[in-house]
Amino acid sequence: MLTPLFFTGVKVSNYMQSSTTIRLVNLPILFDTLNIDDLPADIQSKISQIDACLPQTQCGLCEHPDGCLPYAAAIVLEGEPYNKCVPGGQPVTNAIAQIVDIDSYHSSMTQTTAPSQWPIDATSKRPTEVRAVIREDDCIGCTKCIPACPVDAIVGTGKHMHTIFTDLCTGCELCIAPCPVDCIDLVTIERELTAPERVAEQDDLRQRYHTHLRRVTEQLADSSNSKPVVSMVEAKLNNAASQSLSISEEQAKNTIAAAKIRTKIKKLEKQLSVRANDKKQAELEALQIELSQL
Ligand code: SF4
Ligand code: SF4
Ligand code: SF4
Repeated sequence: MLTPLFFTGVKVSNYMQSSTTIRLVNLPILFDTLNIDDLPADIQSKISQIDACLPQTQCGLCEHPDGCLPYAAAIVLEGEPYNKCVPGGQPVTNAIAQIVDIDSYHSSMTQTTAPSQWPIDATSKRPTEVRAVIREDDCIGCTKCIPACPVDAIVGTGKHMHTIFTDLCTGCELCIAPCPVDCIDLVTIERELTAPERVAEQDDLRQRYHTHLRRVTEQLADSSNSKPVVSMVEAKLNNAASQSLSISEEQAKNTIAAAKIRTKIKKLEKQLSVRANDKKQAELEALQIELSQL
């Protein structure tokens, strides 16, 4: 029987149970490396319960650029700290503590969540939510933000203005770095979700992310598609596909790190081509050295 979980005081175990059984089946290729199918049922159940608590923002702030499920697996399989989900805030940390460390939960010794750059919302006790908005007059239609979005919330075609469906945006901020002209702003939003609404939204985001991964996998497998790898997740997927799913952790980390550095370099080069700046120039040179070492 599942331990009841509480999100800001609301019992949600029934909602979790309804979707726990389907959460770990038919996973996209990226998650094959987790080998979840081979794990004992009780371990799978724990991973699934933790994944059910996570916001499904897929932001990578927990140091898992491939999303919430790998973080849930790392907590269970590698004993990774359970307080690293930044957008989930303290309610999510407490909920995970109830699954993995029931003694500390009952003795109120739950770990403090990693801090967010956004203030804590008084009602949800989570960091204030944000949504991305494109300043359409400044958008040059380069399409670089599209593959970075884990939930396919951005639409647009080459050389035309792009738009974000605010209702679909999770505020993961992953589209900000690839934009060469810095025309994506973040705006804070205020809303109150009931526990069932939050669970339903998370289920939907999880599905959208999996759909995104499947689509990208198909694109990567299409030899006529010469599109460069641009997002961290695509880099990791590409790696997984090219190595017949036997991904090397070291290579994946390097590929991801290199992709991140290239994005930063391009952004700095673009900014420096408009206006000289000693600090940015020094940052650019340091990144170029870092990239050559990788
Ligand atoms: S929402 Fe972000 S920080 Fe939280 S588990 Fe998912 S990927 Fe990690
Ligand atoms: S539009 Fe940007 S901030 Fe919103 S979900 Fe997509 S990548 Fe994240
Ligand atoms: S990355 Fe920036 S400039 Fe390029 S399409 Fe997206 S919003 Fe427009």
